[in-house]
Amino acid sequence: MHAIYPGSFDPVTMGHIDIILRAAAQFDELTVAVLINHNKKGLFTIEERLDLLRESLKEYPEIKIESFSGLLIDYAAKKGEPVILRGLRAISDFENEMQLALANKNSNRNIETLFMVSNPKYSFLSSSLIREIAAFQGDVSNLVPPAVEKALRLKYKEGL
Ligand code: ADP
Repeated sequence: MHAIYPGSFDPVTMGHIDIILRAAAQFDELTVAVLINHNKKGLFTIEERLDLLRESLKEYPEIKIESFSGLLIDYAAKKGEPVILRGLRAISDFENEMQLALANKNSNRNIETLFMVSNPKYSFLSSSLIREIAAFQGDVSNLVPPAVEKALRLKYKEGL
């Protein structure tokens, strides 16, 4: 079975990596898909996010890393209707995720959304929290892959 794991990944965190590696062990094929959102200027460009994912997952060349724009459900249809995988950290994620999953199901009933529960070690973690800590030169070394830590340091040294 093929799964796609979509998200902003701005930047990828250890919470994402944990889900990715656990999913890679469950599915025959896994594609990590970075959403190109023209309305939201992120900290990292799409190319930088892809590079950070590639670098952080370089020991797992079987995991595919791509970007997509437009509706997730259209991208998934083009990819042959894989399962959509999302991570759940807390009850607070649930309402939004349920809404997204139901909207996607309404658009294409062949495509299932599956949820994987976060590792408790990382259940407090989000990309926005990482960006905030890093903006004040806080230590994020055990929360993100080494390539991301380095990239954050450079980004904030440059003054964005
Ligand atoms: P989005 O902007 O689409 O929520 P994110 O990059 O923030 O994209 O997250 C992508 C996916 O990873 C989502 O399903 C999100 O719930 C999940 N996720 C984010 N952080 C964690 C974490 N710390 N542990 C487990 N899953 C997470």
